[in-house]
Amino acid sequence: FQNPRILRNQEPLLRSGRSLVMESHKPMFDINKFDDEFVQKLVYDALVWSSLHGLVVGDKTYQKSGNLPGVGMMHAPISLLPTAFPEIYWNRACDVTPIFNELIDRVSLDGKFLQDSLSRTKKADIFTSRLLDIHSKMLERTKKEDIRLGLHRFDYMLDEETNSILQIEMNTIACSFPGHSRLVSELHQTLLRSYGDQIGIDSERVPRNTSTGQFADAMAKAWLEYNNPRAVVMVIVQAEERNMYDQHWLSSILKEKHNIVAIRKTLAEVEKEGSVQEDGTLIVGGKAVAVVYFRSGYTPNDHPSESEWNARMLIEESSAVKCPTIAYHLTGTKKIQQELAKPGVLERFLDNKEDIAKLRKCFAGLWSLDDQEIVKQAIEKPGLFVMKPQREGGGNNIYGDDVRENLLRLQKEGVDGNAAYILMQRIFPKVSNTFMVREGVYHKSQAISELGVYGAYLRNKDKVIVNEQSGYLMRTKISSSDEGGVAAGFGVLDSIYLN
Ligand code: ADP
Ligand code: MG
Ligand code: MG
Repeated sequence: FQNPRILRNQEPLLRSGRSLVMESHKPMFDINKFDDEFVQKLVYDALVWSSLHGLVVGDKTYQKSGNLPGVGMMHAPISLLPTAFPEIYWNRACDVTPIFNELIDRVSLDGKFLQDSLSRTKKADIFTSRLLDIHSKMLERTKKEDIRLGLHRFDYMLDEETNSILQIEMNTIACSFPGHSRLVSELHQTLLRSYGDQIGIDSERVPRNTSTGQFADAMAKAWLEYNNPRAVVMVIVQAEERNMYDQHWLSSILKEKHNIVAIRKTLAEVEKEGSVQEDGTLIVGGKAVAVVYFRSGYTPNDHPSESEWNARMLIEESSAVKCPTIAYHLTGTKKIQQELAKPGVLERFLDNKEDIAKLRKCFAGLWSLDDQEIVKQAIEKPGLFVMKPQREGGGNNIYGDDVRENLLRLQKEGVDGNAAYILMQRIFPKVSNTFMVREGVYHKSQAISELGVYGAYLRNKDKVIVNEQSGYLMRTKISSSDEGGVAAGFGVLDSIYLN
């Protein structure tokens, strides 16, 4: 049975003259052809599947949903169907992931490069300044981190104009959705197995996504390297976290597959309950900690008092494996991204010319505000740029006419404030129609997408134990929203189908 109102698979089209234009191996579907009855059926199945498989977040209408698991749950905001992504760019993004992992590790070891590159930012931005203070204390003590664990996410958009895949940013701390991204891919695969014929694409076109297992495995291997069978993994969390289930997915695999206990602590709790023993062992609530995994600590909001900074310092001083170390954290700042994009800088950290060329190919235009010529251009055409402060977590960037206003303001105030920001070429991805499902209701929206590729890296001294691409996350947002965070309600979790 096939609903005649629904676009069927593309065969008839492909046999017609148009097949010469459309390459036959490239599946497509047009959601405008789907009628409401069909879409409702898919939505219903998607909601059941999400509830049964833990693709859920805390429901903001329930007061306790950010603290108490199992209370006030809502399906995660999702795209009903995966979004098309060209296989060639998917392969490229996967291919460069281990190189970026290695780059971050090398940069993190160059304390002078980090301090020098961020020295002017330090004066303009108090948060970065505090991070740099911890970093320079560690440099003074010549503290070595032999075991280094990176759980990164590299984000990209496809620029329609230049037809290229360009990196938005590198995240080295608290990358979100390594738990849920696997589930979204599985949800889409499941829906396509049921309805693929009617929709016109094959579930096999959605790449397998093992983000959760790979991140948990990398953490387990870091725990093994630390070599204290009684030690735990400590997840640093915000006091209220409606995205807790994404995090619990990792903890639960650690327990069930690796028999490793994960505890959850806020930075304030670490300060209260934590200490470092003579031999460097971090003890929190009476337990030795092997690995500290940060899902908090990336914004000024996570540091409302000195207690939180003390906790960060305590962790950094200890021998626990930190994901990330303060040096990895700083390496992920927008300022360092911009420095790395300057001519000749990658060459300081990587040897292989081909690798360098591959990374450079995905750099968008990135500039410091010292570049008078670019600032002039950005004032004239602010829509072609994004102005970024040294912040994480979404909602901090400046777009459109605000770019002009802020640049003019900074010019008036004198040069020092400049160093808090970078300028980036604005990327314009292709707009497509998407069904977004939020709070049980679907909306058809004009949307654009950002592909995140997870990377896991673990080494102990000279031995690289893990360096791999570790699954992916597509995020899709309404095209009229500049940022469109998933938690902020503009974006949804998505997966890809390769075309
Ligand atoms: P954060 O660390 O806060 O996530 P990002 O650099 O990822 O900062 O910016 C947040 C969002 O802003 C991105 O997810 C993307 O939607 C949008 N964005 C960032 N840079 C660009 C750009 N150069 N062009 C277009 N959109 C961008
Ligand atoms: Mg970020
Ligand atoms: Mg981002």
